[in-house]
Amino acid sequence: MINGDYSNSSNNEFFETHNPATGELLAKVAKATKEDVNRAVEAARAAFETGKWAKTAHTKRARILNKIAAIMRDRFDELVEVEVLDTGKTVAAAQGQINQAIEDFEFYAGTIATFGGDTNPMPNKFFNYTLKEPVGVCAQIIPWNYPLMMAAWKVAPALAAGCTVILKPASNTPLTAYILADICLDAGVPPGVVNVITGSGAKIGPYLTEHAGVDKVAFTGETETGKDIMARASQTLKRLTLELGGKSPNLVFDDCDIEGAVVGSLYGIFYNTGQSCEARSRLFVHENIYDEFLEKFIEKAKKLKVGDPFNKETHMGALISKDHEKVVDSYVKLAVEEGGEILYGGKRPEDLGQEFENGHWYMPTIIGNVTNDMKIAQEEVFGPVVVVMKFSDEKEVLKQANDSIFGLGSAIWTKDFGKAHRVAAGLRAGVVMINNPISAFPGTPFGGYKQSGFGRELSAETLDLYTETKSVVSYIGERPINLFGI
Ligand code: NAP
Ligand code: MG
Repeated sequence: MINGDYSNSSNNEFFETHNPATGELLAKVAKATKEDVNRAVEAARAAFETGKWAKTAHTKRARILNKIAAIMRDRFDELVEVEVLDTGKTVAAAQGQINQAIEDFEFYAGTIATFGGDTNPMPNKFFNYTLKEPVGVCAQIIPWNYPLMMAAWKVAPALAAGCTVILKPASNTPLTAYILADICLDAGVPPGVVNVITGSGAKIGPYLTEHAGVDKVAFTGETETGKDIMARASQTLKRLTLELGGKSPNLVFDDCDIEGAVVGSLYGIFYNTGQSCEARSRLFVHENIYDEFLEKFIEKAKKLKVGDPFNKETHMGALISKDHEKVVDSYVKLAVEEGGEILYGGKRPEDLGQEFENGHWYMPTIIGNVTNDMKIAQEEVFGPVVVVMKFSDEKEVLKQANDSIFGLGSAIWTKDFGKAHRVAAGLRAGVVMINNPISAFPGTPFGGYKQSGFGRELSAETLDLYTETKSVVSYIGERPINLFGI
């Protein structure tokens, strides 16, 4: 969708998107070319330069963002259905994520209403104020694990700030981005402000992230892709937000509420079939409760229902693709080669029923006998696989938790207030959850340390990343400033 119009790609090529739960073909989608990227950037550039969006009053922008949220609510069931079909995730997960996507638009509608510059201290007879001006044209590239929610994390603050957008959804999950663009138009966002292009990231991505007409790239995806984007964007010094991979630690101390820690840790890894950037995939359990915790953890994992995403009772839906299923399985095999022991799962579930035979599936998988230096404890699997490790000492576990190239999520389970906040301060991660398995709410900054990226989304400070600060310095004295004295 470019400049408010749907079109085929310039060479009329398409790619297919499938339902990962069943393997069935859902839709053929336009496969954008470089020419299409050019057209999209030109449309976004023109919509920015005319100022028709950037100079729309902030109150009106807020009203339109609220309208987007209202239309999303009206079309909620449809959005959920398409998202479940395109991702294979459970209906419960899709409902939660789309609810949040709606609230993200409402949050930025509220935030932009009070967002502005400052006046700053100056010597007498000088006066300084700052303006917050939109960064410009933003290329927003998103992954397949939370398609519509990731789109909202990007599009909502960009629109609030007055930017224009080229949204590039993942090829596995291109559908809801188009519906969102439709909704933006219906809500009164002018054509050209939100453009969507679909097609291979490997092919058109580099062109988009190098494009001289793009002022900012906001990317969520793999750390390796992030590095490529950063290198390309550096050529024209584009502004950059990178939300990348993770291998988040989950620390269970012996003074925790064990029941709460068990179910919270289970959700922390197996939610969204483990395909979460903040999945708590390294589980450290204190030696005093290790056996009791692990027994309960495995017992509950056995109760997780894997299968039909549209069944409200299902806890875990499909993996995104056959390739991804193979990646997950090869990581489990690697763990075993490294000396790990499969305590539960480690294979495709049986008896899913004929309907799901061609889908992509994996059991919740728990691996013991692991040390933090093993590859299975260092590399992101992005699937329902958790490694469990024993610890005895707070300082030692903190060191291990931080021994990772990533620093996205982290969790602590303890009833000791001092310990909770001491350990929270020591963790090198962008998000710390205390006695809680949920990390992302509209308003809470979300993002990474280290190779998990930089820049925070989902919060008021995100607006700083979609704006430039202009400092206006004036002299208000009666006599002219004559520093040369001539
Ligand atoms: P990915 O392979 O990096 O792809 C992400 C997006 O980038 C897709 O739209 C992809 O297009 C596109 N792309 C691929 N190569 C590109 C290139 N060279 N230049 C520009 N764009 C390119 O990531 P993914 O496998 O979809 O997503 C999983 C990853 O996302 C995990 O590592 C996960 O941790 C991370 N993630 C992070 C966060 C966070 O907030 N930190 C949130 C969610 C996910 P195609 O689909 O066409 O290949
Ligand atoms: Mg699909």
